[in-house]
Amino acid sequence: MNIHEYQAKAILREFGAPVARGIAAFTPEEAEAAAGKLGGIAFVAKAQIHAGGRGKGTFKELPAGAKGGVRVAKTPAEVKASAAEMLGHTLVTVQTGPAGKQVNRLYVEEGAAIEKEFYLSMLVDRATVRVAFVVSTEGGMDIEAVAHSAPEKIHTFSVDPAVGIEPFHGRKVAQALGLSGACAKQAVALVESLYAAFTKTDMSLLEINPLVATKDGRLICLDAKVSFDSNALFRHPEVAQLRDESEEDEKEIEASRHDLSYIALDGTIGCMVNGAGLAMATMDIIKLYGRAPANFLDVGGGATKEKVTAAFKIITADPNVEGILVNIFGGIMRCDVIAEGVIAAVRQVGLSVPLVVRLAGTNVEEGKKIIRESGLNVIPADDLDDAAQKIVAAVKKEAA
Ligand code: GDP
Ligand code: MN
Repeated sequence: MNIHEYQAKAILREFGAPVARGIAAFTPEEAEAAAGKLGGIAFVAKAQIHAGGRGKGTFKELPAGAKGGVRVAKTPAEVKASAAEMLGHTLVTVQTGPAGKQVNRLYVEEGAAIEKEFYLSMLVDRATVRVAFVVSTEGGMDIEAVAHSAPEKIHTFSVDPAVGIEPFHGRKVAQALGLSGACAKQAVALVESLYAAFTKTDMSLLEINPLVATKDGRLICLDAKVSFDSNALFRHPEVAQLRDESEEDEKEIEASRHDLSYIALDGTIGCMVNGAGLAMATMDIIKLYGRAPANFLDVGGGATKEKVTAAFKIITADPNVEGILVNIFGGIMRCDVIAEGVIAAVRQVGLSVPLVVRLAGTNVEEGKKIIRESGLNVIPADDLDDAAQKIVAAVKKEAA
């Protein structure tokens, strides 16, 4: 689960990490009042969307050359004017895709006088099975580009969980960033507080880009992107509350309500499969025959008729879907339950695209009989290969 920058910074602040003072705002008036309350001579109004690259982003509704989603302002009135340009408008960045994301919240911060920008992130490194810090002197920019063009400028340190975080981790980070004196000391404290925040709240990713040294010698986390391990959310109701569903794919939200593992993709063949491995294989074979999957969907091992119906509805609600492939291996799952679920869903939502069903395993004959006798226009298939070829052919025929 992802959260907004201002929410991430509130968590970092709780753990003692240095962040600028700021106030979230939902209207231009609130943004102006926030700046007034913060006081000072410089403010930054930042669009809150679950995507990076806001600074260099562009607003769909604004003329070319207009400013992006991170704006420096000198007065509360300027903050208000910037807020009016951003709120309710669609920000397109390298991470949002061409459709962009509507900006519904802003974060108004006191401005920082930046001396130098760094990169710092933390993640769970599966290779070492440890939490790792990744740091670079090349902050504020696209870290993937740095990894590509100057990999030697990226340093990684992992923390032994049995020992925990130690001052030497912070000193290594400070050294890699070329910090000395007061800033190096602050880096040690920063690394400790970030590690505490990361492990105590079950984060899976924490990215500070940029971490900055200010002209008056302070380290500040100027940006913050946080993802949490969804499987650990039950331990953190206060974190779960931060979820902003308007940032998520509607189909994925609906799927999570039914406890379905669903990921929206950009192809045209809707897939309903049980088991993640079979789902991946199904997606691969669709590609092999020249089309792309519209989704990953694992209905799970013990799905009920209701769950299958919900899954089918989510697939058919996707306007990109030109054909549906149901591929079920009945192990714990029974083929007749799947068949009933599919039939119930088709009766409820109708079927405007070709549907290929391949069933194998437990109660397969009952399942096939239910589909045969339903009178619905379902194309039966015998195996994975046959099923993929049939759905691709059916979709092509429909388009012709
Ligand atoms: P992102 O573009 O979505 O990654 O948003 P960031 O929060 O990283 O902001 C982008 C850039 O805006 C930063 O790299 C900074 O150069 C600049 N920026 C952000 N906050 C401030 C600030 O308080 N003062 C100044 N001068 N620049 C800032
Ligand atoms: Mn950033």
